[in-house]
Amino acid sequence: MAEGRVSPNWLQGLAVRPGERTQLERRDSTQKPPDLKRKEAGPAMAEAVADLDRLQYLLYADASASLLIVLQGLDAAGKDGTIRHVLSGMNPQGVRVTPFKQPTPDEAAHDFLWRAHRAAPARGEVAIFNRSHYEDVLVVRVHELVPEAVWRERYDRINEFEALLAANGTRILKFFLHLSPEEQLRRFEKRLQDPARQWKISEADYTERAFWDAYLEAYEEAITRTSTRHAPWFVIPSDRKWVRNLAVAQIISLTLEEMGLKTPPVRVDLADIRHRYHKAVKAAT
Ligand code: AMP
Ligand code: MG
Repeated sequence: MAEGRVSPNWLQGLAVRPGERTQLERRDSTQKPPDLKRKEAGPAMAEAVADLDRLQYLLYADASASLLIVLQGLDAAGKDGTIRHVLSGMNPQGVRVTPFKQPTPDEAAHDFLWRAHRAAPARGEVAIFNRSHYEDVLVVRVHELVPEAVWRERYDRINEFEALLAANGTRILKFFLHLSPEEQLRRFEKRLQDPARQWKISEADYTERAFWDAYLEAYEEAITRTSTRHAPWFVIPSDRKWVRNLAVAQIISLTLEEMGLKTPPVRVDLADIRHRYHKAVKAAT
């Protein structure tokens, strides 16, 4: 294992295996990678972000496959922070971030996967979902926005949808940013005290917090039913931001490495192009 790298075994342990029953209380949101010291985290993160930049460029150049990253988590779990710290190193030309808010009238007039499908990545692209089609089995379930019979059959629809994307060359990684209620409260307090963060406070944060157990139950079932070989869920320990960022960055970069991306073959006659280049140089002097 390279020095200062998070062990791949530890990262693998964050994945929910297909068919495994997800029990969030058994997954420690405060854990850290065993082989990495805190002071190694900074350099490791810089390296991971550089890897991501290089690999995303290859994905873009290769233009045959795509990557979909789904970020889910309760308020203050760090969905925005993950995008800012982990994914901002990538070239904006090949990356699209889509936030999933309460459906607009147009979105609500379509099937629940319509807006997700529209935001799915084209070949060569990375698409990041800040919240996602999973809200339709999470907030919708917790607040009983549709009858159970309606949301319950959505797990199958989601699996079919993701299988369709995967069959079309899209790699899918789904991250649940796992936060303890104590850490959430500490982050709410920071928001209260820091004028630069006060804009992030919403009353909904507190109303939603009261539904904590209902959310965890909804997440556990959603993750259990939709963690598949082609679209795995990872439960990311998120009480420590550096652990969260490093884990997400390294899982994405290992996945991109596995994809065997290559720059496309040269399609021109290089000898001829060199000749034309030298002629152009001569003409210019
Ligand atoms: P935020 O991520 O803080 O900007 O908030 C977005 C809000 O939109 C959250 O409260 C989500 O629960 C809500 N939301 C996202 N998707 C849906 C959906 N399909 N139905 C209802 N509410 C949703
Ligand atoms: Mg919020």
